[in-house]
Amino acid sequence: MKVTFLGTGTSQGIPVIGSKHPVCLSTDNRDKRLRVSVWVQWEGASFVIDCGPDFRQQMLVNNVERIDGIFFTHEHADHTAGIDDIRPYVFRQGALPIYAHQRVLNEFHKRFEYVFAQENRYPGAPEVVAHQIDNTPFELKGKTIVPISVWHDTLQVFGFRIDCFAYLTDMKTIDDSELEKLKGVKVLVVNALREEPHASHFNLEEALEFINIVKPERAYLTHISHLLGFHAEVEKKLPKNVFLAFDTLTIDI
Ligand SMILES: [Zn+2]
Repeated sequence: MKVTFLGTGTSQGIPVIGSKHPVCLSTDNRDKRLRVSVWVQWEGASFVIDCGPDFRQQMLVNNVERIDGIFFTHEHADHTAGIDDIRPYVFRQGALPIYAHQRVLNEFHKRFEYVFAQENRYPGAPEVVAHQIDNTPFELKGKTIVPISVWHDTLQVFGFRIDCFAYLTDMKTIDDSELEKLKGVKVLVVNALREEPHASHFNLEEALEFINIVKPERAYLTHISHLLGFHAEVEKKLPKNVFLAFDTLTIDI
């Protein structure tokens, strides 16, 4: 399996528009972070997790010719606002499968009404096949996808485990029953916003504590704010098996 980080930034991305913060002005490409998303590939399969406002750019930068579907973690705009740009895939491949909690699908019907409209459809509108995820594992292209339910303050969010890889973002807490599902994970991706605490995201300390509980072989941090600091400096402070993800980083699992 191959995982490519398409975006590793928090909701505003880095640089923040108009910001004079030193991290926003950094010339290190690893300090430029699009909104959070990953591309997961295995034999005969190509899936993206989340479809934020940078989706088009991410597909171009990483030359993603085909996707078999999109998994959604939750409905916040930094994870969903790019849906209109699935159209090139729809035109070539047909209606695109999407996988999300029923609450998220309901939200999509409101925000992207034209995507789901049955009548008077504009001919160029995106087409999707919606699949509801209900916190039970499902099979796709020869693998079992295990949803993991976590809390983003009081909002439920899905993470996903595929074999020994797990991807969790926008997480602040997790119930013990869900933590069980992470047993044996070798590569863990988890959000770490900044050093200061935040109501709905792990800060760096909480992310590292969580990694210590799960004990993967390797962990990667994502959903990063400019306030966390320069990539090159933060990286030096991390334990040996923990890495700051950056956009376009590809890992083999
Ligand atoms: Zn987010």
